[in-house]
Amino acid sequence: MLDLENLAAGTLSKGYLSPKLGYPVKIPYFILKGAKPGPTVLVTAGVHGAEYASIDAAYRVTKLDPKTLSGTVVILPIISTPAFTSRSIYINPIDYKNLNRLFPGMAEGTFGEKLVYWLTEEFICKADAYIDLHGGDMIEALTPFTIYQAGHTSSHELAKAFGIELLVASDSEIMSFTAGARQDIPSILAEASGQGLWLEAEVERLRLGVERCLIHLGLLEGELEPKPHKDLSEFAWLRSEHEGLWYPYAVAGDRVKKNQVVGEVKSLLGEPLQQAISSIDGIVLFSVSSLAINADDPLLGIGA
Ligand SMILES: [Zn+2]
Repeated sequence: MLDLENLAAGTLSKGYLSPKLGYPVKIPYFILKGAKPGPTVLVTAGVHGAEYASIDAAYRVTKLDPKTLSGTVVILPIISTPAFTSRSIYINPIDYKNLNRLFPGMAEGTFGEKLVYWLTEEFICKADAYIDLHGGDMIEALTPFTIYQAGHTSSHELAKAFGIELLVASDSEIMSFTAGARQDIPSILAEASGQGLWLEAEVERLRLGVERCLIHLGLLEGELEPKPHKDLSEFAWLRSEHEGLWYPYAVAGDRVKKNQVVGEVKSLLGEPLQQAISSIDGIVLFSVSSLAINADDPLLGIGA
């Protein structure tokens, strides 16, 4: 981690980080060192480079007045700068890997594995709490939700504090929040917006969520107005078995029934190849909005 100890209290520091990853990168950072001591909170965005609402929300968090903080907020608004500049979907354009399937990363590995390892070792493991901001990617429509490691109580509490209603308990072992929860650091991944949009309400939803977490963690003063939440624990992630055309029959936020046909994949000759069928009664968390679909691409995510 950066040398937080020697920063002056009540100040903002910013600059670029260039970890040795075998490919030159300049990763922007901001540190809000509070006027009073307190916990260190890490906020990241841009693990996926085209999730703009989350990236802009992270930039808005940098506008907090450090004099009002008890503790330190470290903000890395664009983790995957190569994916951001190339407007890359899902993957980074250096090794073609999805960074959020590589945690906790590897010291010796490909670009993405090393980048994730650096983020885990230098930042996540040294923080007292971790908030990773995401959204639907350029070709995904999404209804907001917050993910945390199933069974990790302090992460569940942080997810509730963030204020998005739908909470997803995940048993993933390779995502950003996993790396934090494994070290017993309260860690969440909040998702809002998608399809390359960064509308005011969605950016604000994420910015406000971070602010609410800072109140919950004691860095900011204030009363946390309780928000309703729904715990989702059952999921159906539907994937395409074919390359072709994707016709979704349900969109993000829709309620769907078990055995409901929620979309169809057709060949480039327009012939039916695959029906996407929900295995549960639930709510559509995200749906791919791209007509073009590849084998093994996600189609729709449903939670119950
Ligand atoms: Zn993402």
